Amino acid sequence: MSKKIVVLAEVREGALRNVSFEAIAAGKKIADGGEVVSVLIGDNVSSLGQELFAFGADKVITVENDKLKQYSSDGYSQALLAVIEAEKPEGLVFGHTALGKDLSPRIASRLKSGLVSDVTVIEEDGGETVFVRPIYSGKAFEKKIITDGLVFVTIRPNNIDPLPKEEGKSGEVTSLNVNITDLRTIIKDVVRKATDGVDLSEAKVIVAGGRGVKSESGFEPLKELADLLGGAVGASRGACDAEYCDYSLQIGQTGKVVTPDLYIACGLSGAIQHMAGMSNSKVIVAINKDPEANIFKVADYGIVGDLFEVVPLLIEEFKKI
Ligand code: FAD
Repeated sequence: MSKKIVVLAEVREGALRNVSFEAIAAGKKIADGGEVVSVLIGDNVSSLGQELFAFGADKVITVENDKLKQYSSDGYSQALLAVIEAEKPEGLVFGHTALGKDLSPRIASRLKSGLVSDVTVIEEDGGETVFVRPIYSGKAFEKKIITDGLVFVTIRPNNIDPLPKEEGKSGEVTSLNVNITDLRTIIKDVVRKATDGVDLSEAKVIVAGGRGVKSESGFEPLKELADLLGGAVGASRGACDAEYCDYSLQIGQTGKVVTPDLYIACGLSGAIQHMAGMSNSKVIVAINKDPEANIFKVADYGIVGDLFEVVPLLIEEFKKI
């Protein structure tokens, strides 16, 4: 049965995050021929609406208010609940991002709804929409069907492909006026850590280092390889604990969950807590001196060798392309 689905768009530094388009694609699957309404919340964001139409949104609603300039659970909840009240959708899709993870349980509880979080695949089975999500740190997958109430899901970034962009497709952006009241916290300013290069959580290529990198300067060849491939550098907790790099680079159960097209693991053993954050990567290449290292169990390509010899060779070869 066709449904109306509200999907949340996410904006970072004035641009739509890719997960906004992935959410539209997920919404289309769930809508089953129904309508996908993309919601943009912020201050001065309506100019981004046309891009959401180009990626398949049937309707775009903006809630603009200077109190929504920065994300706050309170402010965004008020904005979204107002949209839900106006649109009366049968389903909701958010990204399983820091923002989505904070906002979705709050909205679910306000609506007295269930929530299927961290969905990586949406498939059809006998006329039912089935949501697949990793469990036990990625060691197993669970398939869920929502039988009652709102179809409310969050989707893991980089797993559901956006629809092809239709250049020139446009529509009229609808603005909803919402009176945002009583914010319990107000973010005055966000001071970003100086990071260069591609955002780790959206990177298509990640070159990750572990304790085997041995020092802060040991990360330099990994950075060079990542730059060459247009990717980002990540790390194991072992490398972060040893102060070779910042914790913002940590991938795993207590770090970031990533799903790049290519993950190059250098000098990391492949602890279960690390693999919880990267085992869904499309292609995994492992470089490790120890042929028994656990990381080789999930690797598509394994190189047994010293990373300080192998990585420079890879750089040399990629430079030729
Ligand atoms: P090691 O296990 O020491 O592995 C280093 C590897 O480098 C070895 O396999 C070695 O053969 C190889 N090596 C050494 N020198 C070279 C060389 N020159 N060339 C090639 N290979 C070389 N870990 C995470 O990563 N992410 C998490 O989110 C996370 N969360 C955790 C949560 C909890 C509650 C706990 C208890 C642990 C968590 N951990 C996490 C830690 C995890 O258990 C491991 O301790 C950690 O991942 C190990 O890091 P590592 O692989 O870099 O180090």
